[in-house]
Amino acid sequence: MQSQFVDTYNRKFYYLRLSVTDVCNFRCRYCLPDGYKRLSRDHFLSVDEIRRLIRAFSQAGCQKIRVTGGEPTLRSDFIDIISAIRQDARVKIVALTTNGYRMARDVKRWYDAGLTSINVSVDSLDVHQFYQITGQNKLKQIISGIDAAFDAGFKQIKVNAVLMRNINSASLPLFLAWIKDKPIQLRFIELMEIGKSKEFFRKYHLSGNEIKQQLIATGWCLKPKTLTDGPAQVFTHADYRGEIGLVMPYEQGFCSSCNRLRVSAQGKLHLCLFGERHIDLRDLLVNDGQINELQQRIRSSLTLKRETHFLHQSNSGMTQNLSIIGG
Ligand code: SAM
Ligand code: SF4
Repeated sequence: MQSQFVDTYNRKFYYLRLSVTDVCNFRCRYCLPDGYKRLSRDHFLSVDEIRRLIRAFSQAGCQKIRVTGGEPTLRSDFIDIISAIRQDARVKIVALTTNGYRMARDVKRWYDAGLTSINVSVDSLDVHQFYQITGQNKLKQIISGIDAAFDAGFKQIKVNAVLMRNINSASLPLFLAWIKDKPIQLRFIELMEIGKSKEFFRKYHLSGNEIKQQLIATGWCLKPKTLTDGPAQVFTHADYRGEIGLVMPYEQGFCSSCNRLRVSAQGKLHLCLFGERHIDLRDLLVNDGQINELQQRIRSSLTLKRETHFLHQSNSGMTQNLSIIGG
């Protein structure tokens, strides 16, 4: 193995989040309230470019790849992408973040191609509220997709719900009832102020700490983390088959355990979701012989990774919404 990717603060990178498209068919109010608009003429990374990129990361100790977007499953070669990542024996976890639109139809094929883990976004269990948040009347279809994922062989499904005050914040009991007998890890993500979303954030942001206190008071216990785990604090309870995760980017110390890097659908390395700049890798994804140079560029870029993000100062860097780079 090549030596591990490490930054100036001795953080090691075991986890790559790879966006494969910025196109999305949903209009989530906190992400793309006006729907998708094409920002760049550049085409998305091809399967061969993705394969080379993954090899460079896996040789340097990266064990988990998350495919994200936009909506990654809108790519017609999505299965080929999963298979290409899976073929790299050093990659232990191939995860997907999806809005679930294609799950009921395709999840068995994803499983057979080697996908090991799914995060599906479900911000509300109420059909009407789900439509109001996402602009899509697809809750039933997505819930069927989750059932289909269990039938296909996935042992646990992670569900992402962006926590919004007075929208879904009172639904904790409903969510808890849902996961009582299902192996679902329900993850509340604190709403982040990104790009021009100041007003929306001011109105709807709710600290995950409020949920955390309710969980602790009712017997939920914090679970220890492993090397490739994402940023969620995960809680378990003896009476529940499901788990609750909390992603709290505004909490002090959030960045100290950062173990992940990001690459955009156009092959730009982002050192932080909220960074000010990116590093283009695409010219080094042209042929297999460039791997050492590619790793060297990533390694030297890591010296630029800042200690923390600046979200507290309403600064989300160059990220205008999460569909561009994935959450
Ligand atoms: N389209 C897929 C989906 O929705 O799951 C993948 C991409 S989406 C950008 C990844 C995650 O980011 C989703 O769980 C979404 O809810 C979350 N997200 C997007 N904008 C956010 C914001 N402003 N604050 C918190 N989470 C956000
Ligand atoms: Fe699309 Fe995901 Fe953004 Fe919703 S959160 S608009 S599904 S990219």
